[in-house]
Amino acid sequence: MKRLVYRPGRHFLQIPGPTNVPDRVLRAIDAPTIDHRGPDFAQLGLEVLDGLRSVCRTQGPVVVYPASGTGAWEAALVNTLSPGDKVIASETGHFATLWRAMATKLGLDVVWLEGDWRHGADPERIAAALEPDTRAVMVVHNETSTGVTSRIADVRAAMGDHDALLLVDTISSLASIDYRHDEWGVDVTVGGSQKGLMLPAGLSFNAVSAKALDASKTAKLPRSYWDWTPIVAANANGQWPYTSATNLLYGLREALQLLLEEEGLENVFARHARHAEATRAAVHGWGLEVLALDERELSNSLTAVVLDGSDELRRIILERFDMSLGAGLGKLQDQIFRIGHLGDFNDLMLAGTLGGVQMGLRLAGHDVGDGVGAALERLQR
Ligand code: PLP
Repeated sequence: MKRLVYRPGRHFLQIPGPTNVPDRVLRAIDAPTIDHRGPDFAQLGLEVLDGLRSVCRTQGPVVVYPASGTGAWEAALVNTLSPGDKVIASETGHFATLWRAMATKLGLDVVWLEGDWRHGADPERIAAALEPDTRAVMVVHNETSTGVTSRIADVRAAMGDHDALLLVDTISSLASIDYRHDEWGVDVTVGGSQKGLMLPAGLSFNAVSAKALDASKTAKLPRSYWDWTPIVAANANGQWPYTSATNLLYGLREALQLLLEEEGLENVFARHARHAEATRAAVHGWGLEVLALDERELSNSLTAVVLDGSDELRRIILERFDMSLGAGLGKLQDQIFRIGHLGDFNDLMLAGTLGGVQMGLRLAGHDVGDGVGAALERLQR
């Protein structure tokens, strides 16, 4: 049997989600469960739904599922589309590829715009691919596998007055990168709890426009558990049609309080932008390359760094410094590593993270420059 070894201090969880859960959120989750049909619960339900509307920047309904993000992906498709419907999806990376595979499995006709995993969704290519019978455009806002952020407002603008729905995955951008469901004309926003919202995995979301709600009335893909209609109806009274994930909702209430009331969403975005900038300064200081190629698409929630043999680097860093970094996914396996700098995170945590990466790089035999020094110089400004 493997002997357990105590590792003092905190593990550095610097994967791009799930992220570190603040102590206050953990303590909020650690409270007695209440009756999910009772009056106290209704208050909790109404509060979190209201807060989620603010995070998504929408006046419309936000549907919450006790599910990981993949569930909310499926919900976005089955509520709005019918078998054989034509949809456009852009190959931004591993997650866009998975979402496309799901759409294909569900019987949709996916027009796949191939990409190099170093760029976001191209608004002009999407516009050119739109046909009269295109029913939806699917875009991953922040591609967690590559650290590339697509320009959603530009995608919507390029779609002009075409009637297609815009479905956007914000699983690794919500509550860390500027995002505006209503203003940008998004029809379904897909979110998850385990990244910017600083919660464990287990809740996911659909913010729904009036047009998407309308589409759901005639959409024919089979759906039952994911059906928005009974959920939106029960939500009017702060309840759900099934057993709620009550303790995760306690955590969500606390996280919303931290993000919206105590730090403020604009400051949350600015903090993420600052940490991303300092991280990129470190990468350049090491003499390495950021995977994202377009200056307009650099992610604020994670940075993917090009490095052949990155699995060995991650192994060394975990073993020596007790820090987890994100692996290269899909076709990028062993070719990049990903530094998560989102969620409950501050300057010194970033300094420690980058220090661990720099030491790991040198231990792995890479002759890198002083990236940490470059990052600290940014952080002390
Ligand atoms: N979309 C993106 C952008 C993601 O980063 C992830 C997971 O990391 C998913 C979808 C899938 O979500 P989940 O693993 O919570 O089901």
